[in-house]
Amino acid sequence: MSWQGVFGADEIAIQFARANRRGRLGGSFLFVGPQGVGKRVFAFALAKTLLCRRQFLNENQSLDPSLSPAELLEQFQPCGECASCREFELNVSTPGAVVPTHPDFHYVCKPADKSLLPLELLVGAKDERMQSGLCYELNQTSFLGGRRVAVIDDADYFNLEGANALLKTLEEPPKNTIIILIGTSAAKQLPTIRSRCQIFRFQPLPEDAVADILLTQGKVASPEEAEAIARNSGGSMTEAYRALNSDFSQFQHTLLTELARGKIKGVELAAKVCEYVDKESKEAPIRRLRLQNVLKAAIAYYRALYRALSADALHGTGEPGAAAVAPFVRRAVQSCAATPEFALDCAERTIDALDQIDRNANLPYIVEAWLYDLAALTRAL
Ligand SMILES: [Zn+2]
Repeated sequence: MSWQGVFGADEIAIQFARANRRGRLGGSFLFVGPQGVGKRVFAFALAKTLLCRRQFLNENQSLDPSLSPAELLEQFQPCGECASCREFELNVSTPGAVVPTHPDFHYVCKPADKSLLPLELLVGAKDERMQSGLCYELNQTSFLGGRRVAVIDDADYFNLEGANALLKTLEEPPKNTIIILIGTSAAKQLPTIRSRCQIFRFQPLPEDAVADILLTQGKVASPEEAEAIARNSGGSMTEAYRALNSDFSQFQHTLLTELARGKIKGVELAAKVCEYVDKESKEAPIRRLRLQNVLKAAIAYYRALYRALSADALHGTGEPGAAAVAPFVRRAVQSCAATPEFALDCAERTIDALDQIDRNANLPYIVEAWLYDLAALTRAL
């Protein structure tokens, strides 16, 4: 089972479902566990469920003891039709972060450029203390007349003042208000916070769940790649994504700078590519994936260069990777004597290299031969 598509949290969902049916849902919760195991996804699914009018009105119904856990979970779902469910939407708030919007849902997290959760998010800015911020919002009446749910992310980063400001609200949340704190470990929370919350511990995901998610999201091309990355993930999607993308954009910059330079220094660049390919793991599927990303970036670059040189502006603005390569293409067009034929030859030679990966050729050999040929093509310009 995976309640609402969240892996590994059924036991926790069952506890919430039971408490909701018995009308004994507490107000303050602390979710702890490693990064990337689904705490936030679970908290958002739980928020939608608890905000649903039908689940709210379900409260105080006696719990049928004959219900199996699976039946209980099946009934613990947002209806999708009530006023609250219709208001609940998942929106991209900042790049990479999907956060629900709903008039009775509140979300607070540490901004990326801050080292702690800013106090004003909880109790308002200095000149309007307790006239804005989360604690203020939670003391207003709910918009839809049902529950309110607040998720406080990055709870590892409370400062003492922020924690103190929240204590009273955690101790006695306003009626029908649920506050969920998310942190990595209970030990990292201040004792005053810990003691006021019911704590739920999230475990690392099973490897097959990580592999399933990677495949479902289309992040990898084959089950073998998914499994290899999952084995190195420690059960954390954050780690899995890191293995997939780590340092790629930085390396792409290095690569494209070299390719746009004009004369390519084949041996030096091959060493850099091999270093990048081997950096994350010794496992072949991961190394292959990393080299594929390198070659795909080079192909996107040469295709864009060809289009720029042949003034073939009809195609390609929507090509994958077009935006990333554009500044390098401009540089190459201005500074070196590249011709459309050169761009095409380089693209074709790179596509060959990509094909060789699928034929299980030795990766350093593919890289060296590829860049040796590209260097020769640049020398011939
Ligand atoms: Zn509903």
